[in-house]
Amino acid sequence: MAQREIADFNGIVMLRKDYRERDMLVKILTDHFGKKMFFIRRARKRGFSLAAAILPFTHGTYIGNIRADGLSFINTAKNYRQWQSISQDITLNAYATYILNLIDVAFPDGQVIAEWYQRALFALNAIDEGFDPQIITNIIEIQLLQPFGVAPRLESCVVCQRTDLPFDYSQRYGGLLCKQHWQLDPYRFHASARAIYLMRLFSVINLQQINSISVKATTKQELRRMLDRIYQDDVGLSLKSKHFLDQMDQWDQVMKPRFDKHSEKP
Ligand SMILES: [Zn+2]
Repeated sequence: MAQREIADFNGIVMLRKDYRERDMLVKILTDHFGKKMFFIRRARKRGFSLAAAILPFTHGTYIGNIRADGLSFINTAKNYRQWQSISQDITLNAYATYILNLIDVAFPDGQVIAEWYQRALFALNAIDEGFDPQIITNIIEIQLLQPFGVAPRLESCVVCQRTDLPFDYSQRYGGLLCKQHWQLDPYRFHASARAIYLMRLFSVINLQQINSISVKATTKQELRRMLDRIYQDDVGLSLKSKHFLDQMDQWDQVMKPRFDKHSEKP
């Protein structure tokens, strides 16, 4: 009997795929059952009763038939809500898609990850409410490094455990080096003190308790560059949703000089 159970759970719609002629497969990040793929019969028929509950970027409470293996089913849903800003703004949409995509690849379906359900919820809430989407994304990226098996050591110098000298990040050492040990790795990031401080802060920050973080454009670029290197070299990840974000960034760069005569040359 443990094969299936009727349960109610909270969930976030992660992705949708058309299936057969009228049906749909919807992956939901749930609070109690991890990520689950649901078979939604007749989801693509006009007037389908659960249509609004399975829209992209929707979260709510669902009641359904959860199966340990194979596809699960949804019977009904309540208190569901679509994140409005995210669903209407192409940039916010791209960040939210990337965050859900990262969580999707970091864990196998069915593994209970209640904590990551919460983090995804807080992250998307924050983005929807107008927090800087890059910063929220950086926090998720740094906190996902542990499940991805990279687990950078950010508490103290990897070599001597000192905490009172300036730090830099070393991929070779998988963590921070204090100034005395910088010469051990010529390929260290040569990051600013501010970027290193934020990297350390983001690794421990609780997304629910964020009030405001303002970060200079140059520091944001540094954080982006650092995390891209770690994700490319140490995690070994190349996601379409990330390439799309990078492309949007490039369009921004192309558009900017036309409108801002005083923009600095890189
Ligand atoms: Zn040291």
